[in-house]
Amino acid sequence: MIDLRSDTVTRPTPGMKAAMQAAELGDDVFHEDPTVNDLEARVAELLGKEAALFVPSGTMSNQIGIKVHTQPGDEMLCDVNCHIYNYESGGPAVLSGVTCRTLEGDFGILDVSQLEGKVRPLNDHLVRTRIVCLENTHNRGGGRIYPLEKIRAIRAWTKQHQLILHLDGARLWNAIVATGIPAATWAAEFDTVSVCFSKGLGAPVGSALVGPRDFIARARRIRKLLGGGMRQAGVLAAAARYALQHHVDRLAEDHRNAQVIAEAITDTPGLRLVPEQVHTNLIFFQVDPSLGTAAEFAARLKEQGVLVLPTAPQMIRACTHLDVSTAQAQRAAAAIRHAVPRRSVAVG
Ligand SMILES: *Cc1c(COP(=O)(O)O)cnc(C)c1O
Repeated sequence: MIDLRSDTVTRPTPGMKAAMQAAELGDDVFHEDPTVNDLEARVAELLGKEAALFVPSGTMSNQIGIKVHTQPGDEMLCDVNCHIYNYESGGPAVLSGVTCRTLEGDFGILDVSQLEGKVRPLNDHLVRTRIVCLENTHNRGGGRIYPLEKIRAIRAWTKQHQLILHLDGARLWNAIVATGIPAATWAAEFDTVSVCFSKGLGAPVGSALVGPRDFIARARRIRKLLGGGMRQAGVLAAAARYALQHHVDRLAEDHRNAQVIAEAITDTPGLRLVPEQVHTNLIFFQVDPSLGTAAEFAARLKEQGVLVLPTAPQMIRACTHLDVSTAQAQRAAAAIRHAVPRRSVAVG
């Protein structure tokens, strides 16, 4: 099976397993796991922040960030399709008492003009506008890369209004590789950043939250509260460190493979890329009802050995990653072309 459902389905490589096996371990709740400490130091340095915290998931990383930054009754501004609002089980409301005010981004990308006028005045009736969260690359936006100028304009606006700016950078690595803009340049525009090692980078588990030292100290306490304090976590941090060292640059291969699949979709009548440009490793496409539903189309691809993810009645996501070779991407592209019945074309 060629599994294009998600970039989370990767298995640790032999090299990664060897790194996990060799990891020096200690009790990380006591700050005594040298491998976790080393990973946190590297990630903080890479992103140009004072400190980092290793956590089990991207969801926990984002939600700890929101909890440390806010008080119950605060409000968060975000794109309507962002992960934090849609796919984290209502975390801002449940864990932090924070309401989300959503804005319609352009495939997940907000323009500062959409934020203008959205800060609530100080008034006993009103929630307190406190934080803006952006996502780069944008998952439901089709792997879109946030233009850095747009982020900079939003940053200037959040500073003007004394708001926090947090980045859900689960796939920031993809944006870094696709643009050549270094991690620290992106991160400089944010108070705090969450990054994942278990998506494109191929680690089995793990994310990191980065920011100022006092913020990370408070985040550590919330991690414990949420049950995310892990003991000999170096066995996982070793996989994340290995992924950082060996699996970042190769994301370019995933992006090239995504283009191979995108081309097959563009060429196939009844299928349409949404958005039309594929920036990174995520490919969303619409299935014309004449070809059946997304679930039916996915079932036809499965018969040909290709797994994709229906995300709406007529929408499918395909995703390239570490465990999809170029040959497999080509096979998947051929399967997509074959899954659509060929019409007899009149010659002349
Ligand atoms: C996957 C993902 C996360 C975090 O997911 P976990 O499964 O909790 O690690 C956060 N943000 C985005 C955009 C994601 O795609």
